[in-house]
Amino acid sequence: MTEHIETVIIGGGQAGLALSYYLTQQGRTHLVLEQGQVGETWRSGRWDSFTLNTPNCMTQLPGFPYQGDDPDGFFPREDIVAYLEQYAASFHAPLRCGVRVTAVRQKPGGDGYLVEAEQMTFEARNVVLATGAFPKPKLPTASAALPVDICQLHTSEYRNPQALPSGAVLVVGTGQSGCQIAEDLHESGRQVYLSTSSCGRVPRRYRGKDSIWWLTRTGFFDRTIDQLPSPHAKFACNPHVSGNQGGHDINLRQFARQGMILLGHVQAAQGKQIILAPDLEENLAKADAFAAQIMQAIDEYITKTGMKVEANRTTAEAPSNGASSTQAILTLDLQSAGISTIIWASGYKLDFDLVQIPVFDQEGNPVHQRGVTAYPGLYFLGLHWLYKRKSALLYGVGEDAAFVASAIADRGRTTGVPHEVPLMRGVHTWNKQTKHAVAIPGPSGTSPEVVRPVEMPLHAR
Ligand SMILES: Cc1cc2nc3c(=O)[nH]c(=O)nc-3n(C[C@H](O)[C@H](O)[C@H](O)COP(=O)(O)OP(=O)(O)OC[C@H]3O[C@@H](n4cnc5c(N)ncnc54)[C@H](O)[C@@H]3O)c2cc1C
Repeated sequence: MTEHIETVIIGGGQAGLALSYYLTQQGRTHLVLEQGQVGETWRSGRWDSFTLNTPNCMTQLPGFPYQGDDPDGFFPREDIVAYLEQYAASFHAPLRCGVRVTAVRQKPGGDGYLVEAEQMTFEARNVVLATGAFPKPKLPTASAALPVDICQLHTSEYRNPQALPSGAVLVVGTGQSGCQIAEDLHESGRQVYLSTSSCGRVPRRYRGKDSIWWLTRTGFFDRTIDQLPSPHAKFACNPHVSGNQGGHDINLRQFARQGMILLGHVQAAQGKQIILAPDLEENLAKADAFAAQIMQAIDEYITKTGMKVEANRTTAEAPSNGASSTQAILTLDLQSAGISTIIWASGYKLDFDLVQIPVFDQEGNPVHQRGVTAYPGLYFLGLHWLYKRKSALLYGVGEDAAFVASAIADRGRTTGVPHEVPLMRGVHTWNKQTKHAVAIPGPSGTSPEVVRPVEMPLHAR
């Protein structure tokens, strides 16, 4: 059976829903196809004690900013799911859950696309891939070399310490997920070995505010992809910090003092031997240097703007005191260390196997400008650094969704929707009379700002 629809959005996470919000406001027919339930990734791809790292005040999907009484708190996993469910309900998003898309092809000899799902096909003029910034676990080659009696999990498969075999755990990678899982395991009484990477850290709070709040002010999240030194710079890991238990710092040196055994990065595996690089001290120094840079940027911002805020750094805010109980371990014998489990906190990769259209570069990344591809009506949304650092965040995806909605409106100009949709930085809604996005009052401190879409050839082939 084939169903005809103007726009199909694949993915019912924050990106798909944010776009659906705009298309609904514009009165455009569309469907959101979701293989699981709304916010499926948060339900089935995060561990039990997961909380957001971004404070609640940065949960700002279009038309539905966080309105609760804890703007400095951090949503636990179930509250993120509830927020997304309420968001979808707030504008009656046209969702079809339990529909897994298996292929997207160009319509033979016509303008548009065939979207094939397990039970049926959709014919659409526009297709938007909102299938996730972090869909597929990335595992290093060392993983394949390990014997089968070592339990191996990716962070997306970890749930809680009780679900793991007894024994010590090696966590590989010190991005946000690796550090938070290492802490979860340590607090449950497990011996944790933590293989470090070169990720930075940020203090949770600095000069009276959440560091991430400061970074929204300094322009850190508004940096665009063309301002990066190289295309690969977008793969740099996020600095570690935690939103758990009300939010706190993560400091690897502190982990070591508490009894975790810190290691350099994993180079290879031979039988039950893990070969480690001699870069532990270098990684610790990089984490500290990153924190110092961030604090300096915030200090400069405060000086520049003349804001009256706390002057003194508290102990928790100070850079590391340098103490570390570490010694160079270059080979780790899993058996003698009693390690039964390895958790790979080695990141994610994209997965667009379902897209049967040559819209990818040699590395498999979609070729697009702000989500708009050279194939008319084919869009990507929600990707890490789709346009800005904040593109994959609850705080930033709305801006990209507005841009893609404007591109879709541009293709459908005949229906009377304006060609150029003003994009709002901050909180916004759609005015049905004027057919323009307008600012609505946001939570304290947000100042919506109108920005125009950049000039770009939407229809270039
Ligand atoms: C560990 C981790 C922590 C994060 N913490 C934060 C944070 O603190 N703050 C923040 O703002 N952001 C955070 N993010 C980033 C971002 O908010 C999430 O990655 C978020 O899930 C991205 O939303 P999305 O809608 O783009 O993708 P997803 O939430 O992954 O949604 C994509 C949807 O598409 C569906 N789908 C995929 N393939 C198909 C198919 N073939 N057919 C039908 N449906 C399909 C999936 O089931 C899924 O529901 C974090 C990311 C990770 C990985």
